[in-house]
Amino acid sequence: MGTRIDPRALTRELLAFNTINPPGQERACAHRLGAILEGAGYSVEYHEFADTRTSLIARIGGSADKPAICFTGHIDTVPLGAARWTRDPFAGETDGDRLFGRGSSDMKSGIAAFVAMAVELAPRLARSPGLVLVITAGEEIGCEGAKYLADHQVLGQAGAIVVAEPTGNFPYVGHKGLAWFEVETYGVTAHGSMPELGDNAIVKMAGVVEELQHFRFPVDSHPVMGHPTLNVGTIRGGLNTNSVPDEACITVDTRTVPGIDHGHLCQSLASLLAPRGAKVRQLVDTPALYTEPDHEWVQDVFTVCAPYLDAPPEPRIITFSTDGADLKRGFGGPPAIIVGPGEARLAHQTDEWCSIERLAQSADLFTTIARRWCGL
Ligand SMILES: [Zn+2]
Repeated sequence: MGTRIDPRALTRELLAFNTINPPGQERACAHRLGAILEGAGYSVEYHEFADTRTSLIARIGGSADKPAICFTGHIDTVPLGAARWTRDPFAGETDGDRLFGRGSSDMKSGIAAFVAMAVELAPRLARSPGLVLVITAGEEIGCEGAKYLADHQVLGQAGAIVVAEPTGNFPYVGHKGLAWFEVETYGVTAHGSMPELGDNAIVKMAGVVEELQHFRFPVDSHPVMGHPTLNVGTIRGGLNTNSVPDEACITVDTRTVPGIDHGHLCQSLASLLAPRGAKVRQLVDTPALYTEPDHEWVQDVFTVCAPYLDAPPEPRIITFSTDGADLKRGFGGPPAIIVGPGEARLAHQTDEWCSIERLAQSADLFTTIARRWCGL
């Protein structure tokens, strides 16, 4: 066996890097992880989608018979929020089983767990299918790092993906897709005392909002994910109270299921709303992630996770979206599971923490998943 890294100590070290996004600035944190992995025998590449916005890919092993298994996580975090923290968000304070800090659950603990596993197994992986670790920047705002890696075709091969997002070590088979749109209506301004001389963009938008309430998705329902949804999230328009508004804008959040193509969805919304003079533009696009629960590897992961859970896993999806969707595209569509030590309900919270016990379990879990894949 190789060098041992304590996942708790590594989580604390990663928490000390301020990778709040915006602005992100993940470079120093990415290079620290890269140095650890290079020291353990991994070949490491860095990819920056913008200045200081550094993702890394670390590889070891490789065989002609079977592709590597990918473990992935993001190093950026969300901001601290308006409420005051009672713990230092960067110091890795502990209290009993709790390790506090911004990113402790989402998801520096998950990265620490798989990096600890990767370092320990490294000496035995040379002639095995091997590992590819993808550690991304910029996940919290539109999966920018993962999109860059997939679009630039630098990922290579992987036969399965483990996304170490916070799930309390429950293995989830996917998440819905996320597609956000901006819809604009236009009119002609006039003095508010003579509305008949103008053309009211807000009145047009009222019709658009009403129309969207009856929108039918091309796929109505999914056996595990349920229904796709649509929510009008923001609205603005108008210059002042005594003018006819010549512009109004809404933003729309749709959550999609497999079988709904986001490009087509944008076109359907555009043609539905065109008679009302509305223009539609897509803002955010993360595809749905889904692996059939009866897939052999998924069942194997369920078996590995079961001893750490109260009941045997059943097929479920998580409510947030992940880099997994873009990485799956970049890797050519292998199965993916979302499982990691953090607690989903603590992600993005004030006084975010991670269970130290779950972190240790996660490192064990990842070791077993990697060993079974690599035949060790
Ligand atoms: Zn996350």
